[in-house]
Amino acid sequence: MRINLDRNVCQGHGLCQMNAPHLFTLSEEDGLAIQPSNPIPQEYEEEGRLAVASCPEFALSLIEED
Ligand code: SF4
Repeated sequence: MRINLDRNVCQGHGLCQMNAPHLFTLSEEDGLAIQPSNPIPQEYEEEGRLAVASCPEFALSLIEED
């Protein structure tokens, strides 16, 4: 599973970081989320899905892989 972040859309609310603390941090420079490393480790897929679902700006997209 992969998660792509569109930083042009991100507003830095930080919900992704709250829901997926292992995957997301906010940049100290511009306050926006930082693209997580892909692929998402299997143990963090659930929180990754939660982060994607919770982003109010739809800045995160989920790419499932087989
Ligand atoms: S929840 Fe969405 S808009 Fe907010 S910081 Fe995370 S990616 Fe950006």
